Order: sequence, then structure tokens, then C-alpha cells
Amino acid sequence: MTSSVPADGRIVVVGTGVAGATAAQTLRSEGFSGSIVLVGEESEIPYRRTAVSKGLLSGKSDITRVALKPAAHWPDIDVELLTGTTVVDVDAAARTVTLSDGEHLGYDVLVLATGGRPRTLGPDHPRIHHLRAYRDVPALYERLAAGERLLVVGGGLIGSEVASTARDHSCAVTVLEAQTRPLARLLPEAVGSVVTELHKSAGVDLYTEVTLSTLEADDTGIVAVAADGRRWAADAAVVAIGMDPAIELAERIGARIDGGVVVDEWFRTSVDGVYAIGDVATIPHAALGGWYRCEHWNSALDHGAAVARSILGTGAPFGAVPWSWSQQFGSNIQVAGWPGADDELLVRGDLDGRDFTALCRRDGRLVGAVSIGRPKDIRAVRVLIEHAPFTTDRVLLDPETDLTALSAAARQ
Ligand SMILES: Cc1cc2nc3c(=O)[nH]c(=O)nc-3n(C[C@H](O)[C@H](O)[C@H](O)COP(=O)(O)OP(=O)(O)OC[C@H]3O[C@@H](n4cnc5c(N)ncnc54)[C@H](O)[C@@H]3O)c2cc1C
Repeated sequence: MTSSVPADGRIVVVGTGVAGATAAQTLRSEGFSGSIVLVGEESEIPYRRTAVSKGLLSGKSDITRVALKPAAHWPDIDVELLTGTTVVDVDAAARTVTLSDGEHLGYDVLVLATGGRPRTLGPDHPRIHHLRAYRDVPALYERLAAGERLLVVGGGLIGSEVASTARDHSCAVTVLEAQTRPLARLLPEAVGSVVTELHKSAGVDLYTEVTLSTLEADDTGIVAVAADGRRWAADAAVVAIGMDPAIELAERIGARIDGGVVVDEWFRTSVDGVYAIGDVATIPHAALGGWYRCEHWNSALDHGAAVARSILGTGAPFGAVPWSWSQQFGSNIQVAGWPGADDELLVRGDLDGRDFTALCRRDGRLVGAVSIGRPKDIRAVRVLIEHAPFTTDRVLLDPETDLTALSAAARQ
């Protein structure tokens, strides 16, 4: 690959999340000497979004402590950081973007790192909260600190983390989940049951298979009504029913969209000079074929570093096996690869004791793992998924098998 940008050219990165910030940082550290402009609609400098539902919401951390880099870092490395600025339009033929202040900015390469926005439900009302960015935290924190009754709609990763943080504040918490268990799309049943127990033992009222028909709010509180007539009242609600990728700029320039902005293994979109990374990107599935989009912190970080090298012509096709974690109810749940609800499970350790690694197989092939309390296993499984996906049951289930040693051998 050759560099797709002249040494004195300009790269505009849209989005100051971890993907965009890492792209800008890596472009500079890998020797790009031209202009880098990092544009983001949030008013904060790049920060750790994962803290939004954890340390920031609990009040144990604050925005300066979760900054990815100190404020002076960006001018120090000569990255022009435009916070509080939205890219409102792109002209891919003229290679310009239009900013919310009306300014036009030319580019040689454009990187879309626009992440996504939470799906909404119910009216726009101060008692109904969503949680994606730091700006969403203060109002919800006030409710938690006041120990209000909280209804969480959605038992996915963010809903579960909010429920956990709210219980730490002694709020009465009810979680409504549309599926049969929390994190049902991500986790096979046996592991999902462990998560259900985590909720219950923390005192969360968990209702599954709930289809909400209305969510209403007034000055006194909120009421949620299910399609089957069940009702729940609380002081406030958090709607955590997933996010929609922010694809509008890509759509405007006619880029191929399929659940996100489709890119190749170099993060190139179908439009010349335009790349996409992070939560917004639909990327090739190197291990299983096809394409997928993932919403993991480490993947967004990896994409940011990889796209920079790809632009500069020093990279390699991207095929990293993803991994992520979630902190809830005192447990650190780690996930590698692409586990699915219907996978065959091989469990190492003790599910009920919350000390296990559950290996997930599909069509005889290792595709993922979920673990509590065994982070080393997750590192090893990522290697096995890539290099030894057909390792036998006998080896995988043998308690004497050291997954780290096995993965080291597989890598050679
Ligand atoms: C509350 C919460 C907790 C999480 N916890 C975990 C966790 O524990 N573990 C884990 O692995 N993952 C977690 N995630 C997921 C992880 O944070 C994301 O996968 C990651 O932050 C995605 O990074 P990104 O840079 O692709 O997108 P984002 O972080 O969403 O950044 C995109 C940025 O682009 C900006 N933007 C969008 N459009 C424009 C525009 N037109 N002009 C200018 N700016 C624009 C947005 O405002 C935003 O700042 C969590 C996510 C949330 C919301």
C-alpha cells in the first residue's frame, strides 16, 4: 500500500471518541507531518466513554480524570482539536466539509469516526434519560444521589451497568428486558443465567419478555405500560435499548451502508478518500466471513491505530479478534470474539461460583468466550480463535490445560 495523503496534506477526522482521537494521535506518532484536524460535536476533549455508566455516573470519578490525554497534549502534537463543532455536510467531489459555524475545510483524507446515538423511547422529558455521553450524566447522577426509584428499560450492557450503579446508590431499581434474559443477544443461556442472578442478588427487580407499549412522564413521575397490561411506576426512567450508528454524513456522500458504514480491511469506504472506523463502521469478518459492526472500546481503539497506518501506507489488513468487558454488580465480565445465543458451550471453572471461562463453539469452531474473573483466558482465547479454532474438547475442557500456554503454542 502507498500513502493516500501527501506529506503536506490535510486529514480531517470527524468524531472525538476513542476511534477518532486514536487515529489523530497515531497519524502523528507514525510520522505524518501535514495538518490533522479533529472535529467533535461534544464540548469535552476526548475522554473515556466507558466511564460514563461507571465512575462518572457513580460520582467516583470526574471528567478531567477520564480524559484520554491532558488538554495540552493535542496542541503539543499539533493536532487542531475543534470541540463543540459538528460537521454538518461533506462534499466528497470537492473534498470539503462544512462545519456548524459555517466554515468550509478542505481535506485530502476524511475519517468518519462518528459513533452512534442512543435509541429513544417515550417523550422528550427530564424524567426520561438516555446515556451515551458525559453531557447525559449530571441529570441522571442527581436522581441516583437522591435515591429515587429508577426504571431501566433494556437489560443490555449499558442498562445493566446503570442498574448496578443505581443499586450502589440504594435506588430501588426495576429493569425491563424484552428478551428472556439480560444480554440475551450476546450471551448463551447458561451464561445469561449467571447475569440474571447478578441482577437478582443485587436486589434489582428484573422483568423479562416485556414489550413496552407506552412510557409516559409528568411532573410527578413516570409510568411504563407493557403490551400485556402490566404497569410500572417510578420517579425516572433510563432508556437503554441500544444505539443507531451515526451514518448521516456517509449517506450524504453515497457511501455503501449496511447496518453501518461499510469498509474494507483497510477501513476504506466505497467513496474515494473517505475512511470509517469505530462503532459506526461495518467491517469485514476476517475469521467467519461477511461483515459485522461492533460496539467495543478496544475495537474502536484498534481501528483508530490501524486506519492511521492504512492511510500512511504502513499498515496491514485488519482482522483483530475483538474483546470487551462490562463492570456490573461487582463482577467484571469479559467477552472475546463473537459469542452468540445459540452457541455450544464448553465451560471451564464454576458458573455458579462466578469464576469461569465459557468457550463458545459454532459448527465445531471456536468463535468466542465469556469469562468472569479470568482475564488471562480471554487474551488466550482471542489467539485460539484466530490460530487454533478447531482445538478438541478433550484439550479445551481439561482443567490441566493452560490456555495461555496453548495459545502461545498456537501462535507459532
Ligand atoms: C455508557 C457506555 C458505557 C460503555 N462501556 C463499555 C465497556 O465497559 N466496555 C466496552 O468494551 N465498551 C463499552 N462501551 C462502548 C464503547 O465506549 C464504544 O464502543 C466506543 O466508545 C466507540 O468509540 P467511537 O470513537 O467509535 O465512537 P464514540 O465514542 O461514540 O464517538 C463518536 C463521536 O463522534 C461525534 N460525532 C458524531 N457525529 C458527528 C459530526 N457530524 N460532527 C462532529 N462530531 C460528531 C459524537 O458526538 C462522539 O463524540 C460503552 C459505551 C457507552 C455509551
